[in-house]
Amino acid sequence: MKIGFIGLGNMGGPMAANLARAGHEVWVFDLVRAHIDEAVAAGCHGAVDAASALDGCAAAISMLPAGEHVRGLWLEQARLSAMPAGALVIDCSTIDVASARAVGEAARERGLRFVDAPVSGGTAGARAGTLTFIMGGEATDVEAAKAVLAPMGQSLLHAGPLGAGQIAKMCNNMLLAIHMAGTAEALALGVREGLDPAVLSAIMGKSSGNNWSLERYNPWPGVMENAPASRGYQGGFMTRLMVKDLGLAMALAEHAKSPVPLGALARSLFLLHAQGGFEALDFSSIQQLYGGQIEG
Ligand code: NAD
Repeated sequence: MKIGFIGLGNMGGPMAANLARAGHEVWVFDLVRAHIDEAVAAGCHGAVDAASALDGCAAAISMLPAGEHVRGLWLEQARLSAMPAGALVIDCSTIDVASARAVGEAARERGLRFVDAPVSGGTAGARAGTLTFIMGGEATDVEAAKAVLAPMGQSLLHAGPLGAGQIAKMCNNMLLAIHMAGTAEALALGVREGLDPAVLSAIMGKSSGNNWSLERYNPWPGVMENAPASRGYQGGFMTRLMVKDLGLAMALAEHAKSPVPLGALARSLFLLHAQGGFEALDFSSIQQLYGGQIEG
């Protein structure tokens, strides 16, 4: 299938490579030339701009930082018109519900199908093709999206109508922020009282405090070989993107009139951490907020 792929960052780059590896003809574009070159080296075709990447594609995927980028891509410069009638647009970015709905409705008005499909699983999941896709849209469109997304994901889940994927993703990331901060806090406490962080992680991993941040994405440097913490918090999921997601969750909570005291606290913690010079590092670097004497 001819697929257009826009946004080749920490997530989009390895995702596009997996699509090409599965035998699809993948046309890619990113504002950063080096990202296009890497995707081409992985078997994709480089395009000079977004419209050329989308031209004649049966499906298109966007993986951009935030709602403004997704709206800019799909609602300006008539890029939806570059695609043939009935083509499937899948936005995998984590964005506000209103933007997802606006793009979805614009796509439908032009005779295209749209699914919001934010992901979970981090850069390791993107590389391994084991992401969880959390989808919002019509059941038939979601079924069609599953066929396109299969080479990149292990769990392909339908949350509900247009925008529901984003709502579920925001709930998930608010919980992720809370358990990452809690994990960092518990590790710092144990280490200050003389425990080895790897031993403490193994104990909590077999106890009731176990969670994804501890078990799969340990924030303490050196505890887990493949985690961003063990490579200077490079790559991964940038703190500024987590702050963005927590802002989206707060807006959702305001809309729903749902109390989120722990989410609000986590947002303040990650914002403080971002402003301390960590915004471009992986969000698990929140570990460093718990004390400068903690060494990698
Ligand atoms: P990133 O900043 O590494 O990548 C974004 C890419 O989009 C960059 O390469 C940038 O140059 C490109 N870009 C921006 N505007 C563009 C435009 N108009 N046209 C073409 N390219 C453009 O971010 P990421 O970590 O890959 O995250 C992407 C999305 O996925 C975000 O919404 C994020 O919240 C979400 N997400 C990230 C992770 C993670 O672990 N990194 C996990 C789940 C979800």
